[in-house]
Amino acid sequence: MRAITGRSRLIGLLASPSSHSRSPALHNAGFERLGLDYVYLAFDVPQRRLREAVEGLRAIDARGWNLSMPNKKAMIPLLDRVSPQAERIGSVNTVVHEKGVLTGYNTDGIGFVKALQERNIDLSGQKITLSGSGGAGLAVVSACISEGAEVSVFNRRGRSDEAVRKFRTRLSSDEQQRLKIFDANDHQALSEELACSMVYINATPLGMARWEDQSPLDSHWLHPSIVVCDLIYTPKKTRLLKMAETAGCRTMNGEAMLWYQAAEAFELWTGYKMPIQLRENNNG
Ligand code: NAP
Repeated sequence: MRAITGRSRLIGLLASPSSHSRSPALHNAGFERLGLDYVYLAFDVPQRRLREAVEGLRAIDARGWNLSMPNKKAMIPLLDRVSPQAERIGSVNTVVHEKGVLTGYNTDGIGFVKALQERNIDLSGQKITLSGSGGAGLAVVSACISEGAEVSVFNRRGRSDEAVRKFRTRLSSDEQQRLKIFDANDHQALSEELACSMVYINATPLGMARWEDQSPLDSHWLHPSIVVCDLIYTPKKTRLLKMAETAGCRTMNGEAMLWYQAAEAFELWTGYKMPIQLRENNNG
């Protein structure tokens, strides 16, 4: 076990609940392997206590922190600077504290893109269909559009539908033409968009926790040339991914994205690459 010194700097997770998180184990293993003097801890911080927690972390010169929903959105007005990607999505999952200045980033989208690139999938000019656009979904939509993809988003009416429409207004006119928004109940449109898509992404919780036996798609809409991605990483194989395997599709769960979004945050805080040897331990 690495020694904690008088100079060790704190990095944290501000989430509620926070105790299930794999981030402390992953980041602390990275600090240990590289001999970096940081400590990562998870803190249970509900949205109503976020401002207080951030003031405290700034006062004690913590190096930075991660956030989960709804803190990802609530953090934005508490920042001094926001990266262009995070600003257009309206949420941050990583904060860097540098000499009193708090800068927010969102590493979820680039984490997803890197996970696909690892599988030699280049999104430029490709068509993507995606269900759901909450915090993680919108980050993925934004990154895919930046990569040159055309994206069709299927949303329920309400909160995240409004968020994706607002997001659309922040895009350039070329990018706006590459984003289509549909009602999640429009099954005719969903089957048509899937028929000409190279990648499908589930960014809803359907397939996990109390929705474990559910899938956002019917199996007969799938074709073997589509890559089916689920942002969910627990369970590793959701109902959707099992259906996709049966249909002969390539599949990807949320594990690789989880790794790459963490690796991006690690580098923002420390200036070092997350040691790749930790990747296997992170798959547990
Ligand atoms: P979120 O902000 O709560 O968004 C969830 C999205 O799914 C919203 O668009 C929501 O629509 C929709 N939705 C919720 N319940 C639904 C249902 N019963 N039927 C259909 N749509 C439903 O959550 P998030 O942070 O974006 O997370 C989404 C998924 O990504 C989760 O499974 C999470 O575990 C996963 N995730 C993975 C990673 C990774 O690194 N792999 C990172 C972050 C998140 P409304 O707005 O209408 O409620």
